[in-house]
Amino acid sequence: MTDTLSTVESVDAQRIRRDDRAHVFHSWSAQGQIDPLPIASASGSYFWDYEGKRYLDFSSQLVNVNIGYQHPKLVAAIQEQAGKLTTVAPSFANDARAEAARLIAELAPGDLDTVFFTNGGAEANENAIRMARLHTGRHKVLAAYRSYHGATAGAIALTGDPRRWPSEPGMSGVVRYWGPYPYRSAFHAESQQQECERALEHLRSTLAVEGPQTVAAIILETVVGTNGVLVPPDGYLRGVRELCDEFGIILIADEVMAGFGRCGEWFAVDHWNITPDLITFAKGVNSGYVPLGGVIISRAIAGTFQDRPFPGGLTYSGHPLACASAVASIGIFREEGIIEHARDLGANVIGPALADLARRHPSVGDVRGLGVMWAMELVRDRDTREPLVPFNAAGADAAPMGEFAAACKQRGLWPFTHFNRTHVVPPCTTSAEEVLAGIEILDTALDVADRYY
Ligand code: PLP
Repeated sequence: MTDTLSTVESVDAQRIRRDDRAHVFHSWSAQGQIDPLPIASASGSYFWDYEGKRYLDFSSQLVNVNIGYQHPKLVAAIQEQAGKLTTVAPSFANDARAEAARLIAELAPGDLDTVFFTNGGAEANENAIRMARLHTGRHKVLAAYRSYHGATAGAIALTGDPRRWPSEPGMSGVVRYWGPYPYRSAFHAESQQQECERALEHLRSTLAVEGPQTVAAIILETVVGTNGVLVPPDGYLRGVRELCDEFGIILIADEVMAGFGRCGEWFAVDHWNITPDLITFAKGVNSGYVPLGGVIISRAIAGTFQDRPFPGGLTYSGHPLACASAVASIGIFREEGIIEHARDLGANVIGPALADLARRHPSVGDVRGLGVMWAMELVRDRDTREPLVPFNAAGADAAPMGEFAAACKQRGLWPFTHFNRTHVVPPCTTSAEEVLAGIEILDTALDVADRYY
């Protein structure tokens, strides 16, 4: 891997840093404590800083660059659309929007065959909840503790992780439940099957005490993303589907992160042959080249709004640049066999290589994932499973993970770290050789974590 790191920062980078720190207000950050790296260019699975240092991106930015950076066909499709029509209100019909909706509907399971477009994942979840409430005439929504659904008012209220705390009290009617997490079971389960059965029992009793007739929807991330890459045990999603059917509750699968190839299928629900009532998507649909998200809607829910207006809309819903990029992206996925490649990478490259790391590094407590969505959980003790850094660690408490990340970056790997985990989420197009080169860097960086063991 080339590494032309210069110790002197370029004039360009200095100027960007100066303007950025003076005028850009960044997400999720104490503004005085950050120093964002200026990125000069990117291609495939790599990006470069202004000193020419190359990073292999094991984060896909925010787990969205599924197709890799600067794919020439995707860039060309956006340029072509820009030359034709760059903006049109949602109240008009438009060729890029119509085609994107048809393609997405054809990919979706069951009778989910209409699409409401948004600018991203949070707005998709907001509108999915609105649809579920209006369709059922009920108010409550069950959402998992270990979840992230976005940062707008409703989506942050659905979110279970600590990012919601400063926004509380938020939208009313959200009820929390524990989803399955065999490595740190909330149910003291000792096997995947026990975890599945107990998580379903827990969901059923939560519904019973809430009154199922008051519950509009259960929302879940098909494979939980930032909260740990939690792959549901076989049988869990089917069980949730059956509970929803029993009580007339809408099942919303948030596939903002897990969809569009990330898990080695078009949609993660395809692994278990489940048809939700609503699927929310964003990120991988067009790899974030232009902001886009949406809700894929079952015929029954769409039917609710045949003779009654849907009370929601966005100026940029179905933006032509975004939709043209989604059309091109789906074409590229098909032409290049990216879904199959992602599945193969998970089963034959990433999974075995991470399992090997776990055998050699005591600090690796657990390895889990599928497709190109994996996590390693770092611990101080394998028996007690004490995490390398405490839950929600910040400042000095988080230092060991900071040292681990710095060791990766120094060697040209951009990692995705969250609490005591490092996620392995490169673009779905990354080659096996590139993935193995990145895992070699993780191997070296894990020596840092082992020192705390
Ligand atoms: N849902 C999930 C599962 C996500 O991972 C995210 C973002 O990371 C969102 C929703 C929110 O998407 P956005 O940031 O596009 O609003």
